[in-house]
Amino acid sequence: MRKLLFQSLFRRPFTEPAPSSDDAALSELAAAVGRTARQRLGRSLSIREVDAGSCNGCELEIHALNNAYYDVERFGIRFVASPRHADVLLVTGPVTKNMRDALERTYHATPNPKWVVAVGNCARDGGCFAGSYAVVGGVGAVVPVDLHIPGCPPTPTAMLQGLLALLDRVDAGAGAP
Ligand code: SF4
Repeated sequence: MRKLLFQSLFRRPFTEPAPSSDDAALSELAAAVGRTARQRLGRSLSIREVDAGSCNGCELEIHALNNAYYDVERFGIRFVASPRHADVLLVTGPVTKNMRDALERTYHATPNPKWVVAVGNCARDGGCFAGSYAVVGGVGAVVPVDLHIPGCPPTPTAMLQGLLALLDRVDAGAGAP
């Protein structure tokens, strides 16, 4: 036991070194999303997240957008509790049969103009859950999808890039991509 304790004092940690962060590029990207939203929509971007049946891996990355590191709210990107306050529905997972009705109702409760962003490989076509008796398919099988952000799960940076691409397609004043 003493030998083990002694070794642990000098052994290098088993964890990998943290990747180098590029704070400036990240802040610039998030600021660009907020700025473009105000130019195109005339206000901040409001997002309602919908888990249609994911494994929650995508949710962990989406939650990271609001943590102290990414903190996207400082750039005017807000996650809202109701689809009635949302511009964008960020939908994850394969759509399960149990969530199909809820997703449709959420879509219809969101005021126009609205955009649906399918997040993750499962949201495209069911991913690794495709063919399951419990799964309807990708998000596009239930509601119209405007943008798909691939990955399993996609990184927060990839999601910001996707939102920026979506806003770039929105005609100012027209409200449709
Ligand atoms: S894309 Fe990957 S992380 Fe996201 S719900 Fe599917 S399996 Fe989970």
